[in-house]
Amino acid sequence: MRFRDLGLQYENLKSEIDSAIKEVLESSSFILGKQVSELEAKLAEYVGRKYCVTCANGTDALQLALMIWGIGPGDAVFTSDFTYFASAGTSSILGATPVFVDIDLDTFNISPEALEKAIIRTLDEGKLVPKVVVPVDLFGQPADYNKIIPIARKYGLKILEDGAQGFGGSIDGKKACSFGDISTTSFFPAKPLGCYGDGGAVFTDDEEVVERLKSIRAQGKSPVDKYDNREIGMNSRLDTLQAAILLQKLKAFIEYELDAVNKVAESYTGKLNERYVTPKVLDGFYSSWAQYTILVKDEEERKSIIDKLKANDIPSMIYYPRGLHQQKAYEWMELTDELYPDTMEATKRVLSLPMHPYLTEEDICKITEVLLS
Ligand SMILES: *Cc1c(COP(=O)(O)O)cnc(C)c1O
Repeated sequence: MRFRDLGLQYENLKSEIDSAIKEVLESSSFILGKQVSELEAKLAEYVGRKYCVTCANGTDALQLALMIWGIGPGDAVFTSDFTYFASAGTSSILGATPVFVDIDLDTFNISPEALEKAIIRTLDEGKLVPKVVVPVDLFGQPADYNKIIPIARKYGLKILEDGAQGFGGSIDGKKACSFGDISTTSFFPAKPLGCYGDGGAVFTDDEEVVERLKSIRAQGKSPVDKYDNREIGMNSRLDTLQAAILLQKLKAFIEYELDAVNKVAESYTGKLNERYVTPKVLDGFYSSWAQYTILVKDEEERKSIIDKLKANDIPSMIYYPRGLHQQKAYEWMELTDELYPDTMEATKRVLSLPMHPYLTEEDICKITEVLLS
């Protein structure tokens, strides 16, 4: 059994994907071909934003957004302590300082209360200027924007939504990647909408941001002259091949894959919720199930479950084994575990199970039988 079965997905979409790839090969238009702008338009429409600009990966997407706002030394960028490293590394690479915020164990997303406390603490210390909050839509469920947006507005912070795992999720029908002043996603193969390599996208409603994104993703070039470089930029584009693949995959994602992962989640929860803490989706929220993550009793129980699953040829993963405050790269901040009680609890108890749209009821039964035995 596979954790996320991309082979099965390809079998289902083979003829469409093969002909999409062939078309690109025959056109020889490998960089910013017509499929890229077509995809950008479709993605923007799907998430309900005016514009989408694609780029090379989800990490670059975050960095591009921070560059647009001129984030750098002396700036504080708040993000969840319990996330993939890129949510924080992208502000560090620009010389800014990430400020890690504890999560709510219920949803694994950034705690709005802890966010406000961290902002106040940073203001009191007076060393850094609070500029941006990067809420992460972890495991497919949007962060609690109903509470985060007022806090950000109160302290004058921009919101950069890290929707790398959130694409397809929503709150009261409003889609992930529409909540930030700028929002981003990733098309890494294992994400809810993945390509066959690396890819990413930035979403905004601001036309001026679009112009600057298109410039900064191409060495800061002017809109009319490629060799007239006006600011320092990156080389970060989505390949035409990946855009062509994504156009086919987006269709399947919208038509049935998103629905299918929600059915898988429902089936898991029905079978497991008496024995384990199953994922909580808040009222009015909808998840795209980048991961299906349960909480077990403790590290010891987790170890024995992982071994038992492995013995039955069932893969499982620990997302994530440590908080960002525990990463060696941030050792210099000298942050203690006591500041992050819910993150610490999560790192010891989380276990992510196989999750993808092509997981059968038979697979689910096999997995849950092991978990319940
Ligand atoms: C995957 C991921 C990223 C980075 O995306 P890449 O395309 O791998 O660069 C950023 N943030 C989160 C939360 C992610 O899961």
